[in-house]
Amino acid sequence: MELKGNDSGRRHGSSPSVIVIGGGISGVAAACFLHNAYFKVLLLESRDRLGGRIHTDNSFGCPVDMGASWLHGVCNENPLAPLIRRLGLTLYRTSGDDSVLYDHDLESCMLFDMDGHQVPHKIVAEVGDVFKKILDETEKVRNENSNDISVLQAISIVLDRHPELRQEGVSHEVLQWYICRMEAWFSADADTISLKTWDQEQVLTGGHGLMVQGYHPVIEALSKDIDIRLNHRVKAITDGYNKVMVTLEDGRNFVADAAIITVPIGVLKANLIEFKPELPDWKLSAIADLGVGNENKIALRFDTVFWPNVELLGIVAPTSYACGYFLNLHKATGHQVLVYMAAGRLAYDVEKLSDKEAANFVMRQLKKMFPDAPEPVQYLVSRWGTDPDSLGCYSYDLVGKPTDIYDKLRAPLGNLFFGGEAVCMDDHQGSVHGAYSAGIIAAEDCCQHLIKRLGSVQLVSSREEILKSIVPLKISRM
Ligand SMILES: Cc1cc2nc3c(=O)[nH]c(=O)nc-3n(C[C@H](O)[C@H](O)[C@H](O)COP(=O)(O)OP(=O)(O)OC[C@H]3O[C@@H](n4cnc5c(N)ncnc54)[C@H](O)[C@@H]3O)c2cc1C
Repeated sequence: MELKGNDSGRRHGSSPSVIVIGGGISGVAAACFLHNAYFKVLLLESRDRLGGRIHTDNSFGCPVDMGASWLHGVCNENPLAPLIRRLGLTLYRTSGDDSVLYDHDLESCMLFDMDGHQVPHKIVAEVGDVFKKILDETEKVRNENSNDISVLQAISIVLDRHPELRQEGVSHEVLQWYICRMEAWFSADADTISLKTWDQEQVLTGGHGLMVQGYHPVIEALSKDIDIRLNHRVKAITDGYNKVMVTLEDGRNFVADAAIITVPIGVLKANLIEFKPELPDWKLSAIADLGVGNENKIALRFDTVFWPNVELLGIVAPTSYACGYFLNLHKATGHQVLVYMAAGRLAYDVEKLSDKEAANFVMRQLKKMFPDAPEPVQYLVSRWGTDPDSLGCYSYDLVGKPTDIYDKLRAPLGNLFFGGEAVCMDDHQGSVHGAYSAGIIAAEDCCQHLIKRLGSVQLVSSREEILKSIVPLKISRM
């Protein structure tokens, strides 16, 4: 089947054609860019919805993001800021810059021990300072070792060298909770996170803002006017000399001048798409060498608010695996919803449970803090790790990761271009804005390639111009 544009022949008559594979933020951004540049574009998405790892669920009667929910970097440099401004979406800032808890401020947390006693804030703050010292000391360990080791191994070396930093009793449990928060940021266990690179990412300034109305409006805006085919699962991609043929699982074919691949790194790792000719070894090893983590959310809706008015409710425990925390959406959005977040091995273990069992597991945690907590009236459980359309949550650097991995991941091959969060430039992997930029860059590269190959086409982006208009970001803190 030859790709047909959905606009008039005048607009698309002699335009180059591109197939975008995957309808997450990266794919819709790439498709939007190409559409605005007067290319024929077709987006193929395997699920029955757009958004991918952005999934705003409305079954509670209010938006609940089961995938991404924060804009990391509430600042004008964030590539998504112009669109978020134009859409008038509200951000609820949960932390400023450089918080030891990443996207939360310490002041907005309340921690409890396993017996339901609140941990005094003074202890939480003091252990936070100790954790910062420990992390500072890991830099020395990094400098001494030419071989990469894990963050957890480095922490244990530091504690051996500085017994005064070791914590006992509840303070030890609070320290484990800080490690649990770090693991949640990378969506991976500390024994797999690279010491060499864990603090090398460029986090944008302006702190971290929750998308109060959910992330979906961003996807909706970018996908407007694009020719999108849902329930179209790509099984094979054949790059011939001048054309790319994309084959679906039902055997149908689509042909275009080029293709942009934005499926998750987990899908590429699992070889769920066959490439003809085969991907070269350097590309395959880059795909194999990048880590992919897991994080799951269990959202609970209650008919009454029985918890305190803080943003994060945490439970401390002797190991980071047994620690946990709930995001209080009521504070940010006014809806009576708590969202439990599990990362790394715990996230995979949660996926083995039925929805009911997962909700019960989380309720047991909640009841440790609030013994009289009522049962939730509704609950939702994500399973990003085993979902065949994601196979993981987002990428992170494994111990010993080669330095040129991202260049190799994003490098085009013939008429194939690669987008998606994992190939993002400037160390913004694993984020929505990083995935957005990766899609735009892949689309730009694809445009340049086709212009060179097929002759000049008009590269005017009228919608892009509108996005640049300066309206302040709407930030709330209720
Ligand atoms: C639980 C969780 C919490 C997160 N929290 C945040 C956060 O707060 N802030 C933040 O910035 N980032 C967060 N992230 C990361 C962020 O969601 C991702 O980095 C980003 O959404 C990835 O976008 P993408 O377009 O690269 O990939 P995806 O959104 O995964 O899009 C890829 C698309 O490809 C489709 N696809 C897969 N296989 C095929 C196939 N064979 N054929 C056709 N289509 C296919 C998929 O269905 C999917 O729609 C979170 C992620 C998760 C899972």
